[in-house]
Formats: sequence, structure tokens, C-alpha cells
Amino acid sequence: MAPIPSSIVCEANNECRTLIVGATGFMGRFIVEASLASGQTTYILVRPSSSTCPIKAKTIKGSMEDQNFMEKALNDHKIEVVISVVGGASILDQLNLIHAIKAVGNIKRFLPSEFGHDIDRNDPVEPGLTMYNEKRIVRRCIEEVGIPYTYICCNSIAAWPYYDNIHPSEVLPPMDQFQIYGDGNVKAYFVDGTDIGKFTMKALDDKRTINKCVHFRPPSNLLNINELASLWEKKIKRTLPRVTITEDTLLDAANENCIPRSIVAAFTHEIFIKGCQTNFSLDGPTDVEAGTLYPDIPFRTISECFDDFVIKIIDQSIDDVAQIIDKPVKDAVNRLTMATF
Ligand code: NDP
Repeated sequence: MAPIPSSIVCEANNECRTLIVGATGFMGRFIVEASLASGQTTYILVRPSSSTCPIKAKTIKGSMEDQNFMEKALNDHKIEVVISVVGGASILDQLNLIHAIKAVGNIKRFLPSEFGHDIDRNDPVEPGLTMYNEKRIVRRCIEEVGIPYTYICCNSIAAWPYYDNIHPSEVLPPMDQFQIYGDGNVKAYFVDGTDIGKFTMKALDDKRTINKCVHFRPPSNLLNINELASLWEKKIKRTLPRVTITEDTLLDAANENCIPRSIVAAFTHEIFIKGCQTNFSLDGPTDVEAGTLYPDIPFRTISECFDDFVIKIIDQSIDDVAQIIDKPVKDAVNRLTMATF
């Protein structure tokens, strides 16, 4: 177990000098936005090979695979907290980062690239298991070298959980038919990306989360896929046909071993057939729950998140109309479309 450092909170006004690795990625963008919004002095590590980066944070060019470079960067910029949001292909590269953090010696908190399930609690089928095993190696390394950590277990991102899409919140929920996994009655937690960022920021400077797993279990966002489909039907004011995706279909898609798609199929099986987000209670010595820690901060509901998708559909239709009509007509269509929804 990592020792608790004598000074565990950041300097002036809870402002932490925070380095985010993986900032240009899907999850990384939520974390960077939340870090900037919460007033942290935010640095991002961007690989030299990365194309131009539009993020308004202080940029450090380099790769976490280079331990000496990372030690120098952490020292030069007096970094206090490191958050890693690197993707599935780079999980083990974090081992160099961990050794750099250990060598520097005064980092107050490390949040490794977790941002999903409690990987010590369940075993998905392959190739999901390989990713879990790599994340487990990272956890064990952190615990062995003894750097202070927090594991963020935020469960599913709020979106339609397509079984073949790694970043489902970037696409709209279905408009033609629903694919329902199994009997559609297994529940999961759906958390908005902005809330993943916001609660991660709360946790990184909180002594109650040191060397703990922070689980995100907002009761308002616990739904099965049948309920999720009904909610989306209410939003779009029409019903859609439902097609069953059997457990065997998910297992076959996982078995194809086509990365990353098969990893998503394995996790979909884990969530919606096996119930991995709800089949354990939070009574372990390292378990804390975000809503319980911060009862005054509401989670966005899945209903509000679905409203965002409706607005995207409206915006898309207005853009399509704008291609062919002039401005007064476009404004009228805009008003009509808003009224329809
Ligand atoms: P992405 O693949 O979208 O992004 C990966 C990021 O890591 C990129 O910014 C990439 O930089 C950076 N990176 C990779 N290797 C290095 C390196 N050696 N040095 C510096 N930067 C590096 O990842 P995701 O956002 O999909 O995944 C992040 C985490 O979130 C994972 O742990 C994943 O499991 C989890 N996740 C959880 C979801 C959920 O629903 N709960 C959904 C999706 C992900 P570059 O621009 O140079 O490539």
C-alpha cells in the first residue's frame, strides 16, 4: 500500500499544478476541460508526432515512454498531480511514467488511465481481459513503488452503448432500430463526459480519495438498455423496432479479435450480459463513491444527456436546410424544429 504523504493537498487555494497525459484523446478532452474550468494550472503532454493540438493549456512536447524526459518535465514544471488518460494501446507505457513519478518523489497524486470499471472485480472475455490485465499490471506497479494514487471507476459514458464503437458519445443514438443485448434487463451506470471530468477534479485533491477507487454510481443514471431505448423514443417522439443481439453474437464479435472493436464487444458482454457494474457492493476498504463524497454536486441525468443528442440532430437538420434556403426561411425552420421537439 502506498504511503500517505505528509502534505497531500496542493498549494494555494486548492490549485494543483496538474499534468494530463493523453489530453488529445476522447476521454482526455473531458479531463482537460474540467481541469481548466476548475482553475488548476494545467499542463498537457503532447507527443511530438501529434498533429496540431487546439487545447488551450500549457503544452509540453514529449512522450511518457521516455523516463528521463518525464522526470525533467515533472521537476521543471513543479507538477503536483499527474492524470493519465492514454488509450488502450498505451496502457503499459505508463510504467515508465510511474517510475519517473517515483524518482521525482514529491508528486501528490497519480491517476492512471482507468476511467471505466473496477478491473480487479470482474474478468471480461478476451480481448477485454488483456486490457484489464494490463491495467492491473499498472495498478500493482503503482502500489508496489508506493506513489499516492486514485483510481477513477466512472462506468459507462452517457450515450447509446453501441457494441462496435469505442467512443459511443461521439455518435447519435439509433434513429432506425435498437439493438438490445440479451433480454435487455441488465442495468448499467451512464455518466456524462463532463461529469467524469468534474468529479475527477474533485477527487484529485481530496484526502478521502487517496489510495482509493472512486466509483461513479449516480442512482438517476442506472438504467437497463430497454429503459434507455424507451427514454430515447420519448425524446424523438417515435418508436423504433428492437432487434435482439444475443450473448453468442457478442461473444463471436469479441472472438474475432479485431482491435479495438472486439474489446468493445467483450466489454458490452461484460456490462449488459454479466452485469459487471452492479454485481458487487462498495464495501471494500478502498471503495468510495463520488455521489456520496460530493452530495451537493448533482450528476447530469441521462435524460439531460439525451437532450444534448436531440439538439445535435436539430443542429444537423438546420445545417442541411441552410444549404438550400435563405436566412429568413432558415430562421423559421429553426423555430419550427425547436417547437417539434
Ligand atoms: P484515445 O485513444 O482516444 O486517446 C489516447 C491519448 O493518449 C491520445 O491523446 C494519445 O496521444 C495519448 N498517448 C498515447 N500514448 C502516449 C504516449 N506514449 N505519450 C503521450 N501521450 C500518449 O483514448 P481513450 O480516450 O479512448 O481512452 C482513455 C481511457 O479512457 C482508457 O483507459 C479507456 O479504457 C477509457 N475509456 C473509457 C470509456 C468509458 O465509457 N468509460 C470510453 C472510452 C475510453 P496522440 O494524440 O499522440 O495519439
